[in-house]
Amino acid sequence: MWTARVFTLYPEIFPGPLNKGLYGKALKKKLWNLEIINIRDSAGDKHKTVDDTSFGGGSGMLLKPDVLGKSLDSNIKKNQRVYYLSPKGQKFNQKKAKALSKEKIVNLICGHFEGVDERILETRNIEEISIGDYVLSGGETASFVLIDAVLRLLPGVLGNETSKEEESFENGLLEYPQYTKPQIWEKKSVPDVLLSGDHAKIKDWRLSQSKDITRRRRPDLWKKYLEKDKK
Ligand code: SAH
Repeated sequence: MWTARVFTLYPEIFPGPLNKGLYGKALKKKLWNLEIINIRDSAGDKHKTVDDTSFGGGSGMLLKPDVLGKSLDSNIKKNQRVYYLSPKGQKFNQKKAKALSKEKIVNLICGHFEGVDERILETRNIEEISIGDYVLSGGETASFVLIDAVLRLLPGVLGNETSKEEESFENGLLEYPQYTKPQIWEKKSVPDVLLSGDHAKIKDWRLSQSKDITRRRRPDLWKKYLEKDKK
């Protein structure tokens, strides 16, 4: 069973949004598993201190390596991958979500304050993952994003296996526009081709829409798509 093990200072906010709808049902059905580790439980002093000031100066506090190290070492078995959610990491994307969905256990460290002591990243062979070029106050929201993206790829969780192949990013393109009932709404009809029943034509139309949207909105993806096509 795919397991996310989250190291956090705020265990009470989990499972939070991950408990909604199909994800909540899948959690109950044990299609996936969530383990929440309170980093503070590994603090040694009576005040349960988890952070301290930065050597060399600066205003913020850092998670102490001794506390975080103990928390990781007492919960993680050898050979399990450990990730730190961090703005300095490799940018998260659909490909990474897929790769993570194939791992058995994904250990995620949520930082806070100014981040973590660098030595923990070196000694515990931790990979950093960023969810985008902006700075959050803590890694928890980032972990929700990462886990959400992985869960929809796990077998049985969403229940509709084929729809995923059509999704944005799956073929390197953004998804085509979609329409539902009513067929005419505020005087606007849905595109005729979708009512034609001609599946080949619909497929063509959707692909050309996908290409169009990608070219206009995401020149970066479009360039990659064209390069892939050449090979
Ligand atoms: N001083 C750090 C930022 C710390 S932000 C720096 O400049 O790099 C506090 C915590 O929020 C981080 O430890 C990290 O776990 C989380 N976080 C912030 N932005 C993030 C992002 N873009 N992706 C993933 N995690 C992020």
